[in-house]
Amino acid sequence: MVKACVSPDISSKSKLKKHYFCRMESMPHILGFDQWTHHHKDMMLISGPCSAESELQLRATATALVGNVKLDVLRAGVWKPRTRPHAFEGHGEKALQWLCNIKKEMQIPIAVEVAQPEHIELALKYNIDILWVGARTTVNPFSVQALADALQGTQAAVLVKNPTHPEIGLWIGALERFYAAGIKQLMAVHRGFHSYRPSVYRNIPLWEIPIELKRRFPKLPILVDPSHICGKRDTIAAIAQQAMDLGMDGLMIESHYQPHTALTDAQQQLRPEDLNQLITSLKIRRNHIDLDTDYLAQMRLQIDKLDNELIQLLAQRLKIVEDIGRYKQTHSIPVYQVERWRHIIQHRLEEGKNQGVEEEFLLKLLQLIHKASIQRQTKL
Ligand code: PEP
Ligand code: MN
Repeated sequence: MVKACVSPDISSKSKLKKHYFCRMESMPHILGFDQWTHHHKDMMLISGPCSAESELQLRATATALVGNVKLDVLRAGVWKPRTRPHAFEGHGEKALQWLCNIKKEMQIPIAVEVAQPEHIELALKYNIDILWVGARTTVNPFSVQALADALQGTQAAVLVKNPTHPEIGLWIGALERFYAAGIKQLMAVHRGFHSYRPSVYRNIPLWEIPIELKRRFPKLPILVDPSHICGKRDTIAAIAQQAMDLGMDGLMIESHYQPHTALTDAQQQLRPEDLNQLITSLKIRRNHIDLDTDYLAQMRLQIDKLDNELIQLLAQRLKIVEDIGRYKQTHSIPVYQVERWRHIIQHRLEEGKNQGVEEEFLLKLLQLIHKASIQRQTKL
């Protein structure tokens, strides 16, 4: 018979650093959470193996991490969502007991993945501090709601990974379901998005999505999981640095005392000493600048001015587009003329090249402008 963990609830002590998490004070105007507040130091670090494989593996990895790396939370998957059957699916409750022992010995908060209400019940029974919802679960609102219902009335801390495909609404929707269930300690985890196209990444980062999430909820902490973005060890440091440069709030990185023997995600787990090296070489720029005197502020003023000019020019352009539209209408000329469009693209891209503007970016911009112009003329 396995004994439930009776270690002291260190989540209620300073160890868990609750200030990392969002707290919403009042109902939001649209989505149910616009009153996030959180305070963080420079960043939060969650690390540990992809899967809890044995008590020895957990203890060896955790000892090295707690000894060397500034670790905030130890992670380990005990129920593993595998893409294909017949792979290692985790040790379940048995592994919770191992984690519970390690938590007690090392006084480190523990995070595990939960995908079903029964997982939550067991994780809480073993005094697990943080529950994370994996990408394959976030994608399904029924599953997320079942988890949120199971968490109702608890004080759990929950991390929500992005869904496997790039749909920000599902990610927000999952956060919203947990918030509505009374979960006040929430964070998002960016772990990249599946792409059918070949890529150097296992899951492409599409940074615009976490950036947009931060724009909408500036106080929602977002951690980045470079391990699942990269899929391989060699690009993890670069993605971790990019996460810091983009103002993300922390990292979840998989580590294993012997990565080559790992039962899951062997290619992407780091040895604790390599993680340590990665973390110590990260450049974290978090200094708040005095916007009145700072050089950046001066440059930003110029950017603001240029952006306003761009908008005014676009408005002027659309006005002329409308006049042309009316002319086309009275003279029965079709709205879209392929030759004119080809001419525009060719000449604008040439000019872009002369001015050092990236072709791919300019092409996308011109396509957007063209689409808006066609819409204006069609409306007439
Ligand atoms: C994991 O963190 O081990 C995991 C399965 O992650 P994801 O849900 O991001 O694939
Ligand atoms: Mn993994």
